[in-house]
Amino acid sequence: MLTNIPGYPRIGSQRELKKACENYWAGKISLERLELTARQLRKENWTLLQDAGIDLIPSNDFSYYDQVLDMCVTLGVIPSRFRGLQQTFANPTCPELYFAMARGYQKNNFDITALEMTKWFDTNYHYMVPEFEASQQYALHHPKCVQEFKEALSLGITTKPVLIGPVTFILSGKIKDAGVGYTQLLEKLLPAYIQLLAALQEAGAEWIQLDEPSLVTDLEPAVRELYHTAYSSIRQALPAVKILLTTYFGSLEDNTALALQLPVQALHIDLVRAPEQLDAVLSALPEDKLLSLGVVDGRNIWKNDYAISLGLIKKAIAQIGEDRLLLGTSCSLLHVPYNLEDETALDPEVKQWMAFAKQKVAEVIALQQIAAGDDSLLAENEKVMNSRKTASSIHLPEVKARIKEITTADTQRHSIFPHRQVLQHSVLQLPLFPTTTIGSFPQTTEIRQLRADLKKGIITQETYNADIRNAITETIYRQENLGLDVLVHGEFERNDMVEYFGEQLDGFVFTQNGWVQSYGTRCVKPPVIFGDVQRPEPMTVAWSRYAQSLTSKPVKGMLTGPITILQWSFVRNDQPRMQTAFQLALAIRDEVKDLEDAGITVIQVDEPALREGLPLRKSQHAEYLEEAVKAFRLAVCTVDDATQIHTHMCYAEFNDIIEHIAAMDADVITIETSRSQMELLEAFAHFRYPNETGPGVYDIHSPRVPTVAEMEALLHKAAQLLPARNIWVNPDCGLKTRKWAETEAALRNMVTAAKNARIQQLAVSF
Ligand code: GLN
Ligand code: ZN
Repeated sequence: MLTNIPGYPRIGSQRELKKACENYWAGKISLERLELTARQLRKENWTLLQDAGIDLIPSNDFSYYDQVLDMCVTLGVIPSRFRGLQQTFANPTCPELYFAMARGYQKNNFDITALEMTKWFDTNYHYMVPEFEASQQYALHHPKCVQEFKEALSLGITTKPVLIGPVTFILSGKIKDAGVGYTQLLEKLLPAYIQLLAALQEAGAEWIQLDEPSLVTDLEPAVRELYHTAYSSIRQALPAVKILLTTYFGSLEDNTALALQLPVQALHIDLVRAPEQLDAVLSALPEDKLLSLGVVDGRNIWKNDYAISLGLIKKAIAQIGEDRLLLGTSCSLLHVPYNLEDETALDPEVKQWMAFAKQKVAEVIALQQIAAGDDSLLAENEKVMNSRKTASSIHLPEVKARIKEITTADTQRHSIFPHRQVLQHSVLQLPLFPTTTIGSFPQTTEIRQLRADLKKGIITQETYNADIRNAITETIYRQENLGLDVLVHGEFERNDMVEYFGEQLDGFVFTQNGWVQSYGTRCVKPPVIFGDVQRPEPMTVAWSRYAQSLTSKPVKGMLTGPITILQWSFVRNDQPRMQTAFQLALAIRDEVKDLEDAGITVIQVDEPALREGLPLRKSQHAEYLEEAVKAFRLAVCTVDDATQIHTHMCYAEFNDIIEHIAAMDADVITIETSRSQMELLEAFAHFRYPNETGPGVYDIHSPRVPTVAEMEALLHKAAQLLPARNIWVNPDCGLKTRKWAETEAALRNMVTAAKNARIQQLAVSF
């Protein structure tokens, strides 16, 4: 049985690539220095995998920014807006163009926007969206993957180049010209793919990995046809090239027959996400094909349960024999951190249950040995797995009991919305078109410094608290001066909207160095939920109570919702994810109750990641959404009718889940809409969204100060679509990345816009 790794992290165990790229962009290091760092990182990965004993070692899994962008530049999928810029460079494939496509280019009289960015399947990794234009000519423009293959070869390592397969590549992009269909596009792209594969073959590549994760999604018949066309053309042109068709993140399901029919030498399947697909694949696997079993989880940080993996491996051996099997991780290890050995401060009990990329490679090798009959490694693993099943740090009987006791009443407000609305309006006494913000205010250097100093022990908790209180005081006064109606405390005490809560909840641990790439040079360090979640004490009440004591206007309590905490963490895999979501919901519910008891009359529970959790298959959407909505409702439905619950969502498509958003039954939802000129609101109107809505009237991503007139125009548009009494006025999202000057100027205009709209609305109703 050969071993196979579909991809390895590339940012560097100490985020060397991030630092090198950012220094290069800032003009602090030369291109040569950047390339040297990149070469070193590639060499480290290849050597590590070779020393571990891996047979199919990936190359071209390295990327300066993003692997989809690499494919674009490799094949010439370059939007025409970059053409002028391209002509100014001597070398058309120079990093300047590449980084311009990634980040936009505002220099030398150019003002070119970057490619769009979106999430890679159901991960938190964002890729650059290819733009296919009719005028583009595709060919092997940039031989990056050939160069990297040769680079490894010069180190004595024969690698398996990794490419995005043609159909997934097409589906990941946008066709910019009406009238051009997938079939035509594929026809144009295929010769370039074939040229690329031929060049790799010529360079000495034996196996080539083509990633086709789209095979685990719902496919139209026409798209299935694309698969047939693509892979038979490749086979015809290059009969000798060995293709490892790689799927991950789910089950092939109704695409099983299709995947097995394609003329490739080997198929990789994800048996962590979808162990149940093994039977179907084994029973239909053509005799000339190899099968790669992805048994070690590439998406999470838990140690492999050898007994479970071995069950799958043995079944496969029994049916097709070990000669036709490969063994590896479920997907690229891009989605997990580098090395658990670097975690020196982690609770040893929790650490023993974990594995990062380097440890996962060792697990693949161990499984290979165990499958070959070496049982000695099993006992130790079994001991660790058993300790996890019974650990008192993980299993809190009181939490499990509470989950069992959840009733329907716990997920319902006392009264229906119209009744609550009357009560809330009489308690809050807000004007028509009330103004508010989404929660965070500018995180200045001084504020960041405060948190850093507290962490390092440079300042005492008392000094820190006093300084944060000062920041809150100043922010409350600024909002009063601006004339905002519902105020916020500013979230200065929070580094991150998930980490802040995780740090105060039982069941979480944090790594020092567990970075994973989110996009480009941006990395995140997700919290780890290892055990039952519970809230030992209030998390935000003191800050909210303090802020409320400064003003007679309502100050919103500000919490992160259960699904967003779940989505942005590494989640335990020993119980269904939703079970963890409900535990999180109960913890937030306790906080909501305490805020209400402390006299907070408006409480916002943010769920920006609600849509991100949507499963890849449509057939699973309804179940997910129902449970996610239930988790949200469990978190908030503890309050009196008069307490106003807000939620906030942003930067995703919401049109298709509007009925579930309505089912959340928040009294007010603030939502990003300004970039699409309120397009989303039409969906709200069409659906007759019953509760109050704050469609964002300006985009917080730019320092630009929006004018009164443009925000007023958006409000009028909103008032045509929704009942005026249901409309709130607010920015698209939190303001933490902005500076105070532009924030105040923008909010001043926003308040004026709301006031103007009020006057005009009153005139209309008379
Ligand atoms: N309350 C958060 C903030 O204002 C919401 C952030 C988000 O939507 N991602 O920062
Ligand atoms: Zn937001």
